[in-house]
Amino acid sequence: MEVNLPVREPQGKMEKIVALCKRRGFIYPGSDIYGGLANTYDYGPLGVELLRNIKNLWWKNFVQERSDMVGLDAGIISHHRIWEASGHVAGFADAMIDCKNCKARMRADHLIEDYYEKEGERKSAEGLTPEEFDQIITDNPKLTCPNCAKREWTKVRKFNLLFPVQLGIVEGEGGHGYLRGETAQGIFVNFKNVIDSSRVRLPFGIAQIGKSFRNEITPGNSIFRTIEFEQGELEFFFDPKTTNWEDLFENWKKDILKFVVGHLGIREENLKWRAHTDLERSFYSKKTEDLEYKFPFGFKELWGLAYRTDYDLTQHMNFSKKDLTIMDPVTNEKITPHVIEPAVGINRLMLMVLVDAYHEEENRTVLKLNPNLSPYKIAVFPLLANKPELVDKARSIYDSLKPNFMTAWDDRGNIGKRYLSQDEAGTPWCVTVDFQTLEDDTVTVRDRDSATQERIKISEIQEYINSKLQ
Ligand code: ATP
Repeated sequence: MEVNLPVREPQGKMEKIVALCKRRGFIYPGSDIYGGLANTYDYGPLGVELLRNIKNLWWKNFVQERSDMVGLDAGIISHHRIWEASGHVAGFADAMIDCKNCKARMRADHLIEDYYEKEGERKSAEGLTPEEFDQIITDNPKLTCPNCAKREWTKVRKFNLLFPVQLGIVEGEGGHGYLRGETAQGIFVNFKNVIDSSRVRLPFGIAQIGKSFRNEITPGNSIFRTIEFEQGELEFFFDPKTTNWEDLFENWKKDILKFVVGHLGIREENLKWRAHTDLERSFYSKKTEDLEYKFPFGFKELWGLAYRTDYDLTQHMNFSKKDLTIMDPVTNEKITPHVIEPAVGINRLMLMVLVDAYHEEENRTVLKLNPNLSPYKIAVFPLLANKPELVDKARSIYDSLKPNFMTAWDDRGNIGKRYLSQDEAGTPWCVTVDFQTLEDDTVTVRDRDSATQERIKISEIQEYINSKLQ
């Protein structure tokens, strides 16, 4: 008799990465012991290091090493007027619907109007209630997702991505603010403070890394889309009369790619630029392109680059009645500068880095992280944990390296298992103290990617690591 056993689907790459991240302490589901909280995540001992290394590299590359950039750290809780001026309060309050299959989110009125039009009718769906939208969708079984053609709709919801915060102890007393929905507005709001307190001259940029909050309802792929996330954003201010915006835009594209490929070590074949269509682009933007990365769930936005004209500063001038103009040093005219904005999610960068580094080989799983990003740069092992002379020697090496590098210690199990464990954590080098060490002060250094070993002097370990880090 033939028995049809259910075929077990091999675990997908994404599921394996998520499992590794939890098992090894990169990423945990948020509020885990209480059953989790949708679209929130916490970062474990390895994750916090990786995230910090990415942020430090971003800052070094876009602020420290440039002479036309200054940094900023604006507050997360911010005045409601900021978000009224930016358009977020009104603009994010639409009735939205999500396709559960492809995760596309769209305005329900647009979806329905487009559908009517295809059916040969011109009808407005503006101002309907979510219940009325749902009824139309139920009544029209041919109304499928324009993106993937499936019919797996969520319910329609009135939806504002901003998180309001009630200020003051008594309701109404302190007024209300918002958790910022993007870091960019903090830059525009502080534009005058920065030009009054520093020696910047056009063209120049203001950069910031910090948390942003969006009440996202689409379930994400791990940390790809979360309600709390970190952004690395900068506004590059210029006078369009004296700086050609198209050249500037192209230069920023090059700088972004150089960072992602050169500094984060991402394979270029997994990246592509995608220009926004006229419909997709915000009305004030002259040009927007996204750098997309090939995640296991498809090419998705990693980094947005937008020419936002002088829209934001003009809005804040109108709302605050403050002068946010600046002198162009070339023309000596006071102008409202235009901006080009490169904006990236640091957590999304981290997910990309993990995906790109993940390799399965015959006998091991290895994260081939760029060593600059690795949570631990080096691990130190005594060959045997029950030989005090080996342990003492290894401890002294560990203690000497620790002030300079994130250094791991492991004396459990056999050496082979310890190597495999460090491979999964992305540690580029493992130092083992063995019996020969006691005779000639040399150790073995094992390279993560090639899995080969060489013998070097203890006194040379620091230099060895330094020479390999960029
Ligand atoms: P998306 O279309 O993915 O929602 P967006 O176009 O709204 O993103 P921007 O406002 O341009 O995003 O934000 C800039 C960057 O911030 C994005 O390219 C992305 O890397 C990151 N980002 C945006 N929203 C989230 C989120 N909810 N979780 C994690 N990262 C995010």
